[in-house]
Amino acid sequence: MRIDVLTLFPEMFDGPMNSSMMWKARDRGLLTFEAHDIRHGSIDRHRTVDDTPYGGGGGMVLRVDVLDRAVRAVIGDDTPPVIYLSPQGRLLSHDVARELAQHDRLVLLCGHYEGIDERAHDLFITDEISIGDYVLTGGELAAMVVIDAVMRHVPGLLGADGAHERDSHADGLLEGPQYTRPAEYKGLSVPTVLQQGNHAEVAAWRRRQQLRRTWDSRPDLLYKAQLSESDRYNLGTLADEDARAIRTSRT
Ligand code: SAM
Repeated sequence: MRIDVLTLFPEMFDGPMNSSMMWKARDRGLLTFEAHDIRHGSIDRHRTVDDTPYGGGGGMVLRVDVLDRAVRAVIGDDTPPVIYLSPQGRLLSHDVARELAQHDRLVLLCGHYEGIDERAHDLFITDEISIGDYVLTGGELAAMVVIDAVMRHVPGLLGADGAHERDSHADGLLEGPQYTRPAEYKGLSVPTVLQQGNHAEVAAWRRRQQLRRTWDSRPDLLYKAQLSESDRYNLGTLADEDARAIRTSRT
């Protein structure tokens, strides 16, 4: 996978792209990454990249001619997806990250100030992605989030033990609780079932915990998740447990 980022602040990527999993991805040849300065698309003496918005209203807008030159210099004759990071885009999710990971190459465009001239959408932007319903100062942190989420879907990066396949959202539910040594700490014990080594019982316990956690924290996910008959039965018993707990607390 090759990822090019266009930004006014290429140095922001130095730490994240040279640490942890992103460093590993680059070291193993799974990721070729480059951050390009949007200012290279500016041709005036002051390297101007922005201007005031037509119609007034304050703030500055990134110029379409500058962006166009900067993007064309990076993509050349290639036609990769050019993704604008924006609070107005489709929301990043597990499925969107997996979809983007199918491409050999991605170009990410980071906005700043009030955003970019709308005509960039007509000229070269092919997709628009948001990392959440809030506004950031610039698209750089959003681009890093997208890169990390996408790279987790590139084969060969994560461990062969398949632990990431149990991560939250991989099967539409949240992951259940995790424990490691010590088995006892400050009066808190690791659940007995996890210490006994019965794989079928561990799997059944984990599934029930996934359902419990999703039911408690993100019940909206249950509408979309693929649930088996036994999951539905378990959800029914969770609802009964909650009803009993409420009745007990009232007496
Ligand atoms: N005026 C824009 C609007 O209301 O939609 C917001 C501009 S924001 C201050 C500056 C830049 O940050 C945007 O051009 C975009 O690249 C980035 N950005 C802000 N929030 C984002 C989000 N939730 N997801 C992805 N990128 C975001």
